[in-house]
Amino acid sequence: GLENLKIPEWGERIGWDGQKISVPDKPIIPFIEGDGTGPDIWRATKRVLDAAVEKAYGGQRKIAWVEVLAGEKAFNLTGNWLPDETVEAIQYFRVAIKGPLTTPVGGGIRSLNVTLRQVLDLYACVRPVRWIPGVPSPVKRPQDVNMVIFRENTEDVYAGIEWPSGSAEAEKLRSFIERELGKKIRPESGIGVKPISPFGSKRLVAKAIRYALENHRDSVTLVHKGNIMKYTEGAFRDWGYQVAKEQFADVVLTEDELYSQFNGQLPTGKKVVIKDRIADSMFQQVLLRPSEYSVIATPNLNGDYLSDALAAQVGGLGMAPGSNQGDEHAVFEATHGTAPKYAGQDKVNPGSLILSGEMMLRYLGWTEAADLVVKGLEKAVADKQVTYDLHRQMEGATLVSCSGFGEAIVARM
Ligand code: NAD
Repeated sequence: GLENLKIPEWGERIGWDGQKISVPDKPIIPFIEGDGTGPDIWRATKRVLDAAVEKAYGGQRKIAWVEVLAGEKAFNLTGNWLPDETVEAIQYFRVAIKGPLTTPVGGGIRSLNVTLRQVLDLYACVRPVRWIPGVPSPVKRPQDVNMVIFRENTEDVYAGIEWPSGSAEAEKLRSFIERELGKKIRPESGIGVKPISPFGSKRLVAKAIRYALENHRDSVTLVHKGNIMKYTEGAFRDWGYQVAKEQFADVVLTEDELYSQFNGQLPTGKKVVIKDRIADSMFQQVLLRPSEYSVIATPNLNGDYLSDALAAQVGGLGMAPGSNQGDEHAVFEATHGTAPKYAGQDKVNPGSLILSGEMMLRYLGWTEAADLVVKGLEKAVADKQVTYDLHRQMEGATLVSCSGFGEAIVARM
């Protein structure tokens, strides 16, 4: 039941027509403010998003925020780290945004991200990585980095199918594999299973291609380790090319076709090039030739590594937005933790959650408001109005608080 939630009467539910969401002018959007510094960064984020929507659309559009509980705040108020109502509300309203949550130590407590991923089938972790001019970066040309990573979220070695060294299960599996399948595993090995399916791979790659088409991006790169893991990572690549042919033949072509048939020039009508790279080489490519990559689709583990490596290239996790998306549902979130030592000090950088909100506005189709957020944030950084984490790395910058950074953005929209 959702009867305990304070839902603004004027708000409307985001719809779903079986293909895509339909967004009313006053969408109800659940938010989780988060633990530790979460309330600080959420306050700044809400201020920026509301101001951008107001400026872009007058009173015509407005977000009807509704708070839902998770984490420590939920536990203190309800005795439950993740009330059912929270999951139900996000399921019902379809789009949500969250601050970072404390991961409770000790077993038996379900995690919000894992629960939402399973209940709502949020199969893609989507992370844009782009440099904001002025943000300190360890590379020479951070402006060449502009990628969106689609990381498969439900399969691979993350499926949690593993057993420790010496366990009866690992021993049983080892002897089964030796006896029935004729492959040897060293005794006392811990064993993990890496499942990758055509279903999981194809829907992830299809989502990445749709995104590339909708956002005028010119390539989708399948990143895999198929030279070694042929039937999992290699199959991911094959299924990726297959779904591109099956569903998008009229608008995509492969890198091979581009060079063998068209001399490297994209022919009229074709919009997106599908290419693939071996994961280890890709880590070199994103450092040496980042401008050649745009949308990336990759299995879970590669995506985990690549997201953090790319975030570091553009100035770290403090400004990196993220989201978990299914077909009908999407949850937007900061990519960092709760930074508990600064809780309540109005100090930390709200950039990651603000940019997650910007991504959410774009997902709603509210492009004008999203553009205003980017404009304000870029100008605030260009004017060197920054929080302590950037201030200490920038020459001649002005130190502002968490809320002060939000105000600096609003003033520059
Ligand atoms: P953390 O991300 O909270 O902090 C790592 C470092 O980054 C710290 O030095 C911190 O001060 C700094 N930092 C983080 N966010 C910042 C910001 N917005 N501005 C400036 N500096 C920032 O990671 P941690 O310390 O390993 O974890 C703390 C808690 O957060 C743990 O309970 C952990 O489980 C949780 N956590 C939650 C999420 C999530 O909800 N998505 C993700 C990671 C960690």
